[in-house]
Amino acid sequence: MELKNKRVLVVGLGKSGKAAALFLQERGARVTVSDSRSAEALASEIPDLLDAGVMVETGGHGLMTFRKQDLIVVSPGVPYDMPELQQARTLGLPIIGELELASHYLRGKVVAITGSNGKTTTTSLLGKIFADAGRPTLVGGNIGTPVIDLIAESIRLSGGEKQEQEQPQEQNAGILRSAQNDNVDINGDAATVWSILEVSSFQLETVVTFSPHIALVLNITPDHLDRHGTFENYASMKAHITAKQTAEDFFVLNAEDKPTQMLAALTKAQVYWFSSKRPVKQGAFVHGESVVFLAREGAWPEPVMPVAEIPIKGAHNVENVLAAVCAARLAGISSESIRASVASFKAVEHRLEFVAKVRGVDFYNDSKATNVDATKKALEAFAGGVHLILGGKDKNSDYTELAELIRARVKTVYTIGSAAQKIERHLAGVVKIVSAGTLEVAVKTAAANAVAGEVVVLAPACSSFDQFTGYEQRGRVFKELVKGLA
Ligand code: ADP
Repeated sequence: MELKNKRVLVVGLGKSGKAAALFLQERGARVTVSDSRSAEALASEIPDLLDAGVMVETGGHGLMTFRKQDLIVVSPGVPYDMPELQQARTLGLPIIGELELASHYLRGKVVAITGSNGKTTTTSLLGKIFADAGRPTLVGGNIGTPVIDLIAESIRLSGGEKQEQEQPQEQNAGILRSAQNDNVDINGDAATVWSILEVSSFQLETVVTFSPHIALVLNITPDHLDRHGTFENYASMKAHITAKQTAEDFFVLNAEDKPTQMLAALTKAQVYWFSSKRPVKQGAFVHGESVVFLAREGAWPEPVMPVAEIPIKGAHNVENVLAAVCAARLAGISSESIRASVASFKAVEHRLEFVAKVRGVDFYNDSKATNVDATKKALEAFAGGVHLILGGKDKNSDYTELAELIRARVKTVYTIGSAAQKIERHLAGVVKIVSAGTLEVAVKTAAANAVAGEVVVLAPACSSFDQFTGYEQRGRVFKELVKGLA
């Protein structure tokens, strides 16, 4: 992609928009950034851009700004159908996202992970597995570092600047060699740089040539419907992840999830499956007490690790591990190495994260459980004796959906935040409820009530914005309160 002297507009000045603007400017493009927020709201971002020579438009988008461009780069979160973009489309201007832009320059091979739930956990687990195995590994995307910001390191680790066209040939050479052999170990080349990328459906909306060597779809639940309109639309966004894959690539899918299964019909890549419930044709599954991997149909399943060695709690995390095992084996990482990496993996912060044992009571921080479904997954991870902290800002949820699991596993619910009254109404008669009001009162009361062997879980089923700046802050406050108890 030739950028020199090209006029490029970056729409949306988030983390990845800023990274894209600076990258483009560095490559010789004439860059403008346009954001609907005010200059005051963006005060901390603007100086870096101006210093680099980027033009900045704030407080709205000028229609003219969208006309005189050779390329438009949109940030995730910018509405696909905003009028200015519609106009640009009619004018035939190319519109791409940061992920697409970055993938033109990123060296090495890509593992891309998408899905409704479990992306961050699976991405960071895969990052650890690859790095522990000694592979040059970069981790980014939705999980934190914009993909654009991985480019320089991917070039350095690969031994220098690439000629853009060379990459497909390079990739093919390695894969053709492997075609006659087992699928496994074909990517055993220890020098290849791997980028492990968490990609959201928003980022997938604007990909054109993005082609991960290994793509994973963990699950598709009706999420973000406000943005994508219909469930079918949303599922087809996820299909973008495989649109440019070839027969030399791999597509790893959840065999227990119907919408995910249907994607198998849309791919040219080799389909691998994972399942926690039954054997699959090829891929990773639970067999008896073990995680096993089947390299191809008819092969002998190879043991990877006992399920009991998986340190992150819950059936949903077994699925995340299975997906990661499958991808890592396809990349030629040995089962022994995978087993050691998984066994020493710590839950990602705020995702059913073990905090501490205080007087025999275990405390778990699942502040990222911001909807009823995620709270259900958290409850399924504990057999009983749960003291559950629920509440925050209501998202129009139906908390009666929790009643059955609460009746079976929860001793007391502690409600906090503005959703408290609604939750108490929905769970009346189901369980003992303490109206705690604040997280501090909830933690202290739960700690006083719980006896050794029981657990206190923050899995609030609500967003945090009534009392906190985000789920991260809520989780950190929880952990500090727990440390205060000890
Ligand atoms: P994402 O990045 O897709 O939001 P996370 O790994 O951050 O996923 O987890 C978000 C929430 O979803 C957490 O509360 C976690 O317990 C739950 N979760 C994680 N993995 C899965 C899964 N495979 N299926 C369902 N829920 C999951």
